[in-house]
Amino acid sequence: MSNLAAALRDAEQRLAHTSPSARLDAEVLLAHVLDKPRTYVIAWPAKTLPGEALDYLNTLVERRAAGQPVAYLTGEREFWSLALKVNDAALIPRPETELLVERAAAVIEQSAASRVLDLGTGSGAIALALALRFPHLAITASDVSAAALSVAEVNRKALGADNVELRESDWFEILGDAYEVIVANPPYVASDDPHLEQGDVRFEPRLALDGGRDGLDCLRTIIDEAPRHLLRGGWLLLEHGFDQGDAVRELLQAAGFSSVDTCPDLAGHERVSAGRR
Ligand code: GLN
Repeated sequence: MSNLAAALRDAEQRLAHTSPSARLDAEVLLAHVLDKPRTYVIAWPAKTLPGEALDYLNTLVERRAAGQPVAYLTGEREFWSLALKVNDAALIPRPETELLVERAAAVIEQSAASRVLDLGTGSGAIALALALRFPHLAITASDVSAAALSVAEVNRKALGADNVELRESDWFEILGDAYEVIVANPPYVASDDPHLEQGDVRFEPRLALDGGRDGLDCLRTIIDEAPRHLLRGGWLLLEHGFDQGDAVRELLQAAGFSSVDTCPDLAGHERVSAGRR
């Protein structure tokens, strides 16, 4: 028997060497074990922790200490205020990707778009955020990975997003040609970027991260092919690396896009670029 405060202290200590967020991880894992919100484990330090719960917590802490991302241990990550299921078949949704949702939402509103494509949807994060904000939209969400699409389908069902259709496709391979808005958070990390061997990223699918020698392979393919799948006046919005803004704007201009522009994320890094066909 232990109480919540003691269990948290112990977990935090065991995570201190490997996690940059040991206290937070301990709280999230304990809350998951108890199936309670994180505020509960902070508000009730003296509550008793039953033996089984402590055993389960210990298993999770061990796996976290070995590097596993917290989101893969709890099977959940919040994105755009949605509780999304995640597993190692798909990228863990990042806060900076909410900027892409925000930009896409603005464009959808302005242009009264009704047909939207999310390429490489992974867990479905972007498509589902847009689908719930705009219930009238017809959203196609594609991925080359059937395993990722299973995660997206679980989320689509749980959120009741009937306006999202999931398709297995290698980029545009089997997709239509009359979208008004196309969004994508493709793999954009350079193959030799040491970041791929560090922290949580090590456990995420390479397929969702590795953008080839300069990280731009998928961005190039998407930008080249998107005009054939967009209606005239339609928009392409892309997430990319903090140092890829110049390259992505050049690619968009070379492919004939107008109104090419980039938005910085909350950290001030160039993160989302857009262009109009
Ligand atoms: N931003 C992610 C990272 O740095 C990469 C996401 C991506 O490649 N689409 O880990």
